[in-house]
Amino acid sequence: MTTTNATRQEPAQSFTLFPQLPVELQRRIWELCLPARIVELDRPITENVTTPCSMYNTSQFNSRIPIAVQICKESRSVALLAGFKQIYDGNFVDSDAPGWKAMNSIKDLWVTPSIDVLHLNYGNCYNVGRDHPSDNPLQFLLWLRRRLGHSTHISIVAPLVLAFNDYQGAEFMTTYEDKNLDLLTEAGGSYLTTLCVVSLHLSLDAALRKEGGMLFGRLGEERVKLVRAGDKTALKAYYKLWAAGPRKALEPVMFFELALVRHESEWLPRVAQWKQRLVTKWVTHNLRKAEAKNNCADIQDPEGIFRTRREDEWRTVLQGNSGPFSDYMRPPRGWAFLNHATDVTNTEHPWVAKVLRDMPCFEPMVMFRLCAEKCYAPKPPRPQHIIGGQGTGRKRHCSV
Ligand SMILES: [Zn+2]
Repeated sequence: MTTTNATRQEPAQSFTLFPQLPVELQRRIWELCLPARIVELDRPITENVTTPCSMYNTSQFNSRIPIAVQICKESRSVALLAGFKQIYDGNFVDSDAPGWKAMNSIKDLWVTPSIDVLHLNYGNCYNVGRDHPSDNPLQFLLWLRRRLGHSTHISIVAPLVLAFNDYQGAEFMTTYEDKNLDLLTEAGGSYLTTLCVVSLHLSLDAALRKEGGMLFGRLGEERVKLVRAGDKTALKAYYKLWAAGPRKALEPVMFFELALVRHESEWLPRVAQWKQRLVTKWVTHNLRKAEAKNNCADIQDPEGIFRTRREDEWRTVLQGNSGPFSDYMRPPRGWAFLNHATDVTNTEHPWVAKVLRDMPCFEPMVMFRLCAEKCYAPKPPRPQHIIGGQGTGRKRHCSV
């Protein structure tokens, strides 16, 4: 249908007939207004993310009670039926809950299990240089999913299984990663896996004006979003939102140049390389387990499990300046018994094909965070007595 200037109308700013709609229809509309969130169990830590952004306030806004709870009786009823606060007790009184007391965990977060994704920012960096005082937080995430229902989606960060860059930490800490792989395999399902985190600094009003406010939720309640790493259209939508923001908020410029301008030539090959390395890691992990159980005799042609890379499989050459994201381009560390620079997994090997059938699905994602804190602006010096005080939320500790 052709719309002429004469017939085009501005979108309505109010709808006074809403109370006259059947209650079922009203409730359905309120259901659609509920935020679909990436629910963070812990705040990201700056050891894992190249950013001056504290990310603290974004996490707090993202975990708040939905606005629908406060609008009217019907919307409140819908929100309270679908979601709830305190999915776990801060004191872990539940006897079957794995213990986890991280300094950066988020208390009293709101969860709507049917539409939310439970996300753990925890990576192995937590364990660097200190012993973790409680159980692996991953066990806690999996326990929580069992409690909320197996259909609840869950999400992790890449370093938990295999870092996308060296600085995400501890690729050498294979003991932890191998344990994580076992836990994730046992729990089953697929895992959204965050490769890198990008903070966008702009006002909430600006975020709500773009794309009908869909990039960070209709009411700005979804401050943390995940986008598939290969989804160029979605990446471009966040780019346009950022480009319309303050000129000083330059932090993501290198990321967008890499992920959009060099999308096919550099970004996608890097993501593919991460997947390939993860396959190698999975096969290596299974080989180690077979060795430990003295089952290697059952593997025919063990020499054929890995093969030398073909000429066309060599590592992608850097084609531009990616600034802080150059870290993601560094060649990966190898393992002692495998020349990572020259060897890849031979997926045609029968034993490899068999173990790959049991490999969980790890979907590579990019995390976008809406931060209205103007973190790019120079900070005024703070009085000495405040620095190091309690509850600043900006401490760089991994865990307690
Ligand atoms: Zn910020």
